[in-house]
Amino acid sequence: MNDCLFCKIARGDIPVKVLAFNEHALAFPDLRPVAPTHALVIPRAHFASLGDLTDFDVLGAMHALAVQVARDTGILQSGFRTVINSGPDAGQTVFHLHLHVLGGRPMEWPPG
Ligand code: AMP
Ligand code: ZN
Repeated sequence: MNDCLFCKIARGDIPVKVLAFNEHALAFPDLRPVAPTHALVIPRAHFASLGDLTDFDVLGAMHALAVQVARDTGILQSGFRTVINSGPDAGQTVFHLHLHVLGGRPMEWPPG
Protein backbone atom coordinates (compact mmCIF):
# COMPACT_ATOMS: atom_id res chain seq x y z
CA MET A 1 0.00 0.00 0.00
CA ASN A 2 1.65 3.18 -1.21
CA ASP A 3 0.25 5.57 1.40
CA CYS A 4 0.65 3.28 4.42
CA LEU A 5 3.16 4.58 6.99
CA PHE A 6 4.49 1.17 7.99
CA CYS A 7 4.69 0.01 4.36
CA LYS A 8 6.92 3.04 3.76
CA ILE A 9 9.08 2.00 6.72
CA ALA A 10 9.17 -1.63 5.51
CA ARG A 11 10.28 -0.46 2.04
CA GLY A 12 12.95 1.82 3.51
CA ASP A 13 11.25 4.99 2.22
CA ILE A 14 11.11 6.29 5.81
CA PRO A 15 14.38 5.55 7.61
CA VAL A 16 14.25 3.87 11.02
CA LYS A 17 16.84 2.23 13.25
CA VAL A 18 16.31 -1.44 12.37
CA LEU A 19 16.78 -3.51 15.54
CA ALA A 20 16.24 -6.92 13.95
CA PHE A 21 14.89 -8.34 10.73
CA ASN A 22 14.13 -11.54 8.90
CA GLU A 23 12.47 -12.62 5.67
CA HIS A 24 8.97 -11.72 6.83
CA ALA A 25 9.33 -8.83 9.28
CA LEU A 26 11.46 -6.09 10.83
CA ALA A 27 11.70 -4.44 14.25
CA PHE A 28 12.40 -0.79 15.08
CA PRO A 29 11.91 1.54 18.08
CA ASP A 30 8.47 3.02 18.70
CA LEU A 31 8.43 6.78 18.06
CA ARG A 32 6.65 7.44 21.39
CA PRO A 33 7.98 4.81 23.80
CA VAL A 34 5.83 3.99 26.83
CA ALA A 35 8.44 1.73 28.45
CA PRO A 36 12.28 1.66 28.56
CA THR A 37 12.13 -0.94 25.79
CA HIS A 38 9.35 -0.29 23.29
CA ALA A 39 9.85 -1.71 19.83
CA LEU A 40 7.44 -2.44 17.01
CA VAL A 41 7.65 -5.52 14.84
CA ILE A 42 5.93 -5.19 11.47
CA PRO A 43 5.45 -7.64 8.61
CA ARG A 44 6.99 -6.62 5.29
CA ALA A 45 3.66 -7.34 3.59
CA HIS A 46 0.63 -5.19 4.28
CA PHE A 47 -2.12 -6.62 6.50
CA ALA A 48 -4.34 -3.95 8.04
CA SER A 49 -4.77 -5.82 11.32
CA LEU A 50 -4.54 -9.28 12.84
CA GLY A 51 -8.01 -10.07 11.55
CA ASP A 52 -6.76 -9.49 7.99
CA LEU A 53 -3.72 -11.75 8.28
CA THR A 54 -3.77 -14.60 5.79
CA ASP A 55 -0.24 -16.04 6.19
CA PHE A 56 0.21 -17.15 9.79
CA ASP A 57 3.88 -18.03 9.26
CA VAL A 58 4.32 -14.27 9.43
CA LEU A 59 3.17 -14.26 13.05
CA GLY A 60 5.87 -16.76 14.03
CA ALA A 61 8.51 -14.70 12.25
CA MET A 62 7.31 -11.56 14.06
CA HIS A 63 7.52 -13.26 17.45
CA ALA A 64 11.01 -14.55 16.68
CA LEU A 65 12.07 -10.91 16.24
CA ALA A 66 10.28 -9.91 19.45
CA VAL A 67 12.37 -12.45 21.37
CA GLN A 68 15.52 -11.24 19.64
CA VAL A 69 14.77 -7.62 20.60
CA ALA A 70 14.03 -8.69 24.19
CA ARG A 71 17.32 -10.56 24.35
CA ASP A 72 19.31 -7.71 22.77
CA THR A 73 17.82 -5.09 25.12
CA GLY A 74 18.38 -7.24 28.22
CA ILE A 75 14.75 -7.83 29.21
CA LEU A 76 14.45 -11.50 28.36
CA GLN A 77 14.78 -12.56 32.01
CA SER A 78 13.17 -9.55 33.74
CA GLY A 79 10.11 -9.96 31.56
CA PHE A 80 8.43 -8.35 28.61
CA ARG A 81 5.03 -8.04 27.01
CA THR A 82 4.03 -8.48 23.38
CA VAL A 83 0.83 -6.74 22.31
CA ILE A 84 -1.12 -6.58 19.07
CA ASN A 85 -3.87 -3.97 19.16
CA SER A 86 -6.41 -5.06 16.59
CA GLY A 87 -9.27 -2.74 15.72
CA PRO A 88 -10.82 0.36 17.32
CA ASP A 89 -11.75 -1.09 20.74
CA ALA A 90 -8.16 -2.29 21.20
CA GLY A 91 -6.84 1.19 20.39
CA GLN A 92 -5.19 0.41 17.07
CA THR A 93 -4.11 3.67 15.43
CA VAL A 94 -1.86 2.49 12.59
CA PHE A 95 -3.63 0.08 10.27
CA HIS A 96 -0.66 -2.05 9.25
CA LEU A 97 -0.32 -5.06 11.55
CA HIS A 98 2.31 -4.51 14.26
CA LEU A 99 3.49 -6.21 17.42
CA HIS A 100 4.53 -4.02 20.36
CA VAL A 101 7.46 -5.32 22.44
CA LEU A 102 7.41 -3.69 25.86
CA GLY A 103 9.64 -4.12 28.89
CA GLY A 104 12.16 -2.67 31.30
CA ARG A 105 9.59 -1.79 33.98
CA PRO A 106 6.87 -3.64 35.88
CA MET A 107 3.52 -3.63 34.09
CA GLU A 108 -0.03 -3.93 35.32
CA TRP A 109 -2.78 -6.34 34.39
CA PRO A 110 -5.47 -5.99 33.15
CA PRO A 111 -4.54 -3.34 30.61
CA GLY A 112 -6.68 -0.19 30.52
P1 AMP B 1 -1.21 1.15 17.84
O1 AMP B 1 -1.86 2.18 18.71
O2 AMP B 1 -1.21 -0.23 18.43
O3 AMP B 1 -1.77 1.17 16.43
O4 AMP B 1 0.32 1.54 17.76
C1 AMP B 1 0.87 2.41 16.81
C2 AMP B 1 2.24 2.77 17.31
O5 AMP B 1 2.99 3.28 16.24
C3 AMP B 1 2.25 3.84 18.42
O6 AMP B 1 2.86 3.30 19.59
C4 AMP B 1 3.07 4.97 17.80
O7 AMP B 1 3.87 5.61 18.74
C5 AMP B 1 3.87 4.24 16.76
N1 AMP B 1 4.33 5.03 15.63
C6 AMP B 1 3.59 5.84 14.86
N2 AMP B 1 4.36 6.37 13.89
C7 AMP B 1 5.60 5.86 14.05
C8 AMP B 1 6.84 6.01 13.36
N3 AMP B 1 6.97 6.82 12.28
N4 AMP B 1 7.92 5.33 13.81
C9 AMP B 1 7.81 4.53 14.89
N5 AMP B 1 6.67 4.34 15.58
C10 AMP B 1 5.58 5.00 15.17
ZN1 ZN C 1 1.09 -1.16 5.17
